[in-house]
Amino acid sequence: MQPEKFEAIVVGAGPAGTSAAYLLAKAGLKVALIERGDFPGAKNVMGGILYTRPTEEVIPGFAREAPLERPIVEQNGWLLTADAAVKAGYRSAAFGQEPCNAYSVLRARFDNWFAQQAVEAGALLIPGTLVEEVIRRDGKVAGVRTGREQGELLADVVIAADGVNSILARDAGLHEEWMEDQVAIVVKEIVALPAETIEERFNLEPGQGASIEFYGDATAGMLGTGFIYTNTDSLSVGCGALLSELVRTLTTPYDLLERLKNHPMVRPLLAGGEEREYMAHLIPEGGQRAVPRLFTDGMLVVGDAAQFCNGLHREGSNFAMVSGKFAAETVIEAKAKGDFSARALSGYAERVKDSFIMKDLRKYRDASRYFERHPAFFGVYPEIASAAAREFLTVDGVPKRRKQWKILRDVHRRRSLWTIARELLGALRVVK
Ligand SMILES: Cc1cc2nc3c(=O)[nH]c(=O)nc-3n(C[C@H](O)[C@H](O)[C@H](O)COP(=O)(O)OP(=O)(O)OC[C@H]3O[C@@H](n4cnc5c(N)ncnc54)[C@H](O)[C@@H]3O)c2cc1C
Repeated sequence: MQPEKFEAIVVGAGPAGTSAAYLLAKAGLKVALIERGDFPGAKNVMGGILYTRPTEEVIPGFAREAPLERPIVEQNGWLLTADAAVKAGYRSAAFGQEPCNAYSVLRARFDNWFAQQAVEAGALLIPGTLVEEVIRRDGKVAGVRTGREQGELLADVVIAADGVNSILARDAGLHEEWMEDQVAIVVKEIVALPAETIEERFNLEPGQGASIEFYGDATAGMLGTGFIYTNTDSLSVGCGALLSELVRTLTTPYDLLERLKNHPMVRPLLAGGEEREYMAHLIPEGGQRAVPRLFTDGMLVVGDAAQFCNGLHREGSNFAMVSGKFAAETVIEAKAKGDFSARALSGYAERVKDSFIMKDLRKYRDASRYFERHPAFFGVYPEIASAAAREFLTVDGVPKRRKQWKILRDVHRRRSLWTIARELLGALRVVK
């Protein structure tokens, strides 16, 4: 029997793949969306903050129907030491008004809903099916082989949206295994709490949400972050670090998460919560230098599979959706020309290059390496900031000017002012 032929096969029903499949189906193409999970989202992990504008670009008006948790009206960054937190945050009423800037989501619900929109647009969803390799014919990618019996499917073009561990991109020769400093391991737990308790603890109006990102002691001084995001009646709590850092320090991500949950500044936020789910996942952290070749004859790579992620700003779903959209637009053009060669698909890389995706990855291309080489930002500097704040805010009859001089002397004793100036300038250079 001849394998079934599609105009496009999309592998992976995460935000990247479903965006591509949805737009291709809407444009009238015969498209299959293959997902290894029993349903889209079953295996997917994200903090997760979903950004409104990039999602609107793919599926306008989604917020009226999608299963969203809370609009994020407040974002915080906490620099932790063993027993203190130096806090910065921003809250805006505008973030709580339609169209809200971002929402917390639970991927098992959101991805399932999103894939359903692709099905309603005409895509054939094939869940519970692992794609094992690409099929090549006449030197070009011509389909995929799945783990099912007679599991070959053919297509004019295959879109690899199979996430950070992309089997397809590797099989097509577009990249090798990632190195230990090109991925972070993050673990996440969902902790159930009543909605009113969440609103009280995070100082929120009913239905509103907040996020906290943790640095410093949160990752035991390693390059990484922790987070808490508020869902409707649960908190997403997570923590992770570069794989190379975890290997170097022989730390497990589970240990890091336990450490964060038991931190004296964090514990009260979780008190009385019931642990519901525990999951672990990789995040691409290689930045611009790790981005593989994005296309070959008959195939495109999108989302995490292409290392499209900005860990510094906790953005990945937006890169995934917009790259999925660019892939769909490129395939629609290729179909009009009847040409799915690498040359015809190269417009995808041009679109990515001209967008925020490549511009942001280029902007931060040296950041990860710089901070990995300067662990002071995750250890000594949080301690210096905390000691300075404690000294300045302690009311003990010492005049404020004398306190300022004392703080300066104490800082200098811990790390020379020259080193601090050099490291801060270096940090500014890699994030400017
Ligand atoms: C803990 C954590 C927190 C994060 N927090 C945020 C956040 O708050 N905001 C944000 O924007 N980003 C966040 N990210 C990043 C974000 O989750 C990713 O960038 C985004 O999910 C990438 O989408 P994707 O579709 O490319 O890949 P994925 O979401 O990983 O989807 C890949 C899909 O392909 C399927 N698949 C894989 N291999 C195969 C195969 N061989 N055959 C068939 N199906 C396959 C998988 O089951 C999955 O459904 C976070 C990531 C993690 C791990």
